[in-house]
Amino acid sequence: MCDIMKEFEDATKPPDPVEREPHPMKPLDLDKVAMGGKIEVVNPSQPKNSLAYTEMFNSIQGEGRYTGRPCLFVRLHNCNMSCTWCDTAYARRLPRLWVHINGIYREMFKKHLSLIVFTGGEPLLQQNESMYRLLHRLYRSNIDITFETNGTIAPTPELLRYQPLLTVSPKPRHSQPKGSKFVETWWCAFAKYSQTDWKFVIAEQRDYDWFLECLAYINPHQQIYLHPNWTVKTLKDREDYIQYRAKWVALAKMHSPNVAMRNVHLGVQLHKILNVQ
Ligand code: SF4
Repeated sequence: MCDIMKEFEDATKPPDPVEREPHPMKPLDLDKVAMGGKIEVVNPSQPKNSLAYTEMFNSIQGEGRYTGRPCLFVRLHNCNMSCTWCDTAYARRLPRLWVHINGIYREMFKKHLSLIVFTGGEPLLQQNESMYRLLHRLYRSNIDITFETNGTIAPTPELLRYQPLLTVSPKPRHSQPKGSKFVETWWCAFAKYSQTDWKFVIAEQRDYDWFLECLAYINPHQQIYLHPNWTVKTLKDREDYIQYRAKWVALAKMHSPNVAMRNVHLGVQLHKILNVQ
């Protein structure tokens, strides 16, 4: 067995509910979250059994392993980063709303959905009793659960009990505005969990170069999705753009000695092609 396989041989075992890897950064104080570079103190009077959210809608999952499945998106409020190309900055800027967990649960059954996607903002900011209670009900109802996270906050053992898919989209330093505080990805916490997928948004060459550097931290048993940034305007441009990046992936797969490259998929963001939310 090669070294890298040995290094990750524990990765497919169930997560240890107690042991945690030391993080190089000071852990976040969940009562204080960064908002646009400033620290905002979260209202301590959170209504019982509620989550702070920005919007909730049903649509089709356009990315990753559940691509094409109808689902309920719950966009939770706020984020601890300020990426310059963020297309959901309103999750940080709009006033916080509260939704009762029964409302989310009922919505799933009203629409006959079997997949729920917690997105943001940064959904792992809300690992709390209300969230665990909701996950417990969803899990027992055989609903597939996904969190779309930027990977800077480690999942709690309590959250992992419900075996959610964690789709981690790490952010490079160059994605943040100059002078803003940068939060490192908590690589080891996600590399150890078997239900982690990785997503990298590729807008320019330096994003792709950075993605290749990140392969050193990724468990080779986990799946990786590359998505071109959806900024080009015409369908023709998009086709060229996607084909260009498909060649990058193919070439990198052929030439990279890193075993993680065999799990790289080129994603196309189906929801953007279908023009749905
Ligand atoms: S981590 Fe995601 S939600 Fe947060 S600012 Fe960056 S792109 Fe936007």
